Amino acid sequence: MRIGVLGVQGAIEEHVSVLSRLVGAENVLVVRDRNELEKVGALIIPGGESTTISRLLVKNKLFARVKALGREGFPILGTCAGLISLAKQGDEQVGRTGQKLLGLLDVKVKRNAFGRQKDSFEAPINISVLGEKPFTGVFIRAPMVERVLDKGKVKILAKFNNKTIAVQQGNILATAFHPELSGDARFHNYFLSMV
Ligand code: GLN
Repeated sequence: MRIGVLGVQGAIEEHVSVLSRLVGAENVLVVRDRNELEKVGALIIPGGESTTISRLLVKNKLFARVKALGREGFPILGTCAGLISLAKQGDEQVGRTGQKLLGLLDVKVKRNAFGRQKDSFEAPINISVLGEKPFTGVFIRAPMVERVLDKGKVKILAKFNNKTIAVQQGNILATAFHPELSGDARFHNYFLSMV
């Protein structure tokens, strides 16, 4: 089964390269349209600009299908802007831009929760599902999960400075940081274990 990386905008190649090392390049597909989406058994929504990603999901007629697949148990990992796209509720910035959210994660997100581009940083994060060794979280204009809307469904996987930065809701996994940039494949391996 092939793993897809949504290829409409953002940090696409970095995910493709981590996945290619783990499952072989022939099993990784950049997904830009409905036809390509039907060829994969799991999908990564990368970081980038969530307003643009949301618009292109709609324009490329992927939005409704990704949403339906997510509801049916299809594994999806959203990183950074991908976390925003997966959420059910956004902040005032999401409201202002009118970006459509997939609503597959019962959380409220806040965009740019750690400041602007110049405030990008790396920090060791404890993620117990990855084992004891801390994971290097790379934060680039990162969002955070401001509120979990359904505590029975959403599992918090990691926090940093008391801010929720990684969550899982069944088949849906999301991080505020960029696991594809840390040189550590454990997060991708964890996602692949769900596939
Ligand atoms: N700040 C971006 C947004 O709100 C996300 C940043 C990222 O994905 N690196 O869309």
